[in-house]
Amino acid sequence: MAAALLQRWRAGGGGGGVAVLWRVPRRQRSTFDVAVVGAGIVGLASARELALRHPSLALAVLEKEPELACHQTGHNSGVIHSGIYYTPGSLKAKLCVQGAALCYEYCDQKGIPYKRCGKLIVAIEQDEIPRLKALYERGLQNNVRDLKLIGAKEIQAKEPFCRGLMALDSPYTGIVNYKQVAQSYAEDFQEAGGTILTDFEVTDMEMAKEGSSENEDGLQYPVVVRNSKGEEIYCRHIVTCAGLYSDRLSEISGCSPEPRIVPFRGDYLVLKPEKCYMVKGNIYPVPNPRFPFLGFHFTPRMDGSVWLGPNAVLAFKREGYRLLDFSTADFLDAVLYSGLWKLVLRNFSYGLSEMYRACFLSAQVKQLQRFIPEVTVNDILRGPSGVRAQALDSDGNLVDDFVFDGGTGDIGSRILHVRNAPSPAATSSLAIAKMIADEVKQRFEL
Ligand SMILES: Cc1cc2nc3c(=O)[nH]c(=O)nc-3n(C[C@H](O)[C@H](O)[C@H](O)COP(=O)(O)OP(=O)(O)OC[C@H]3O[C@@H](n4cnc5c(N)ncnc54)[C@H](O)[C@@H]3O)c2cc1C
Repeated sequence: MAAALLQRWRAGGGGGGVAVLWRVPRRQRSTFDVAVVGAGIVGLASARELALRHPSLALAVLEKEPELACHQTGHNSGVIHSGIYYTPGSLKAKLCVQGAALCYEYCDQKGIPYKRCGKLIVAIEQDEIPRLKALYERGLQNNVRDLKLIGAKEIQAKEPFCRGLMALDSPYTGIVNYKQVAQSYAEDFQEAGGTILTDFEVTDMEMAKEGSSENEDGLQYPVVVRNSKGEEIYCRHIVTCAGLYSDRLSEISGCSPEPRIVPFRGDYLVLKPEKCYMVKGNIYPVPNPRFPFLGFHFTPRMDGSVWLGPNAVLAFKREGYRLLDFSTADFLDAVLYSGLWKLVLRNFSYGLSEMYRACFLSAQVKQLQRFIPEVTVNDILRGPSGVRAQALDSDGNLVDDFVFDGGTGDIGSRILHVRNAPSPAATSSLAIAKMIADEVKQRFEL
């Protein structure tokens, strides 16, 4: 069976047009020491780190799509965050600051293009200034490099079209194509002997039955992982990095379904090419402290285009990238969760205005004009979308920090779940990977 799967990966050009370095594994196998579920940037970074640290182990990445990195990792703003926003001492604060430095170093080593184009967080109204100053203090506490507060004149010197009273200037912030970074992690992993199986949607995990004739290696690889086609692999340990499905993977493995994932779609607008001169670097608003999302921003892209957004509206389908995408299972899952109702009731008017703005371009343009008054509806087009995997607890609180957790019992004690890895997890991926590799070594005594 493993041979068939590997054949399929090779024939299907797994990696989605990437220059995948195909290596025949040391022996074609369906048994692995560690299987990582999910080939987004977190899963691939973690698999890579494990392969580099433990060259003698057989490692696999299992991905449900025919391509790598095609969900959150392939649908984001592409910003290398510097670590300003996050609560001092939190995993986000620590891993973002470390991760940004590691990301620049990795891109330099691999020749992956990036731009350190900087970012301004701009206060437009007087009452935003105390919050901006508090952000500055927070950034200093988090050891963010080169931060400073600047006034209206300096804002215009940096961003001639942008208006504002005061801004937090973060020249260390950059941009990169995270799909390209993730694909490079995949190549490193394969070069180190790792196996990537695409079109492998994990639907079931159970302990192998004693004496099972299918499990040639007996109880050395006691966890059976099954996919939607009924194919199986056997492994000793599992790490799940399943993004929008992280709660379902946890449930499948017998671990807690909470916190649940609520999908928030973010729609982007794009500036028409002839108007891109209006934006030099990232321009962000002072964030609303009630939400983990950073607000509608101007973001230059590696291809020279400029994206505006994203907004944040509840999606009716996980991995549903269009306004009308709908999945009955995902919808029921969300509306039957009491945490969602508590969240909706607490933020009803905010949610409605986000929906309104999502429908009417002119409403979004008004938001943009607060920063760049020259932007008009004629300068923009509707752009792509992404869906954020946001963990929500049963009290209706959006879980702010990264969450990693295991379980109990036969399978639970062999699993590490990445439960919540929203932004800035792409920036932080190499730092998250180091933490996961430490945790795997300690928990599983590798
Ligand atoms: C709109 C938006 C903007 C963002 N902007 C930024 C930014 O500027 N900077 C930043 O640092 N971060 C940003 N982020 C966050 C960042 O993109 C994510 O934190 C990061 O990509 C998460 O990576 P991941 O590997 O956990 O998830 P994903 O990339 O979603 O990967 C999860 C993978 O698991 C696979 N999978 C799921 N279920 C199964 C299963 N049963 N079997 C097998 N495979 C499965 C999926 O197919 C997918 O490939 C943004 C996110 C969004 C949505």
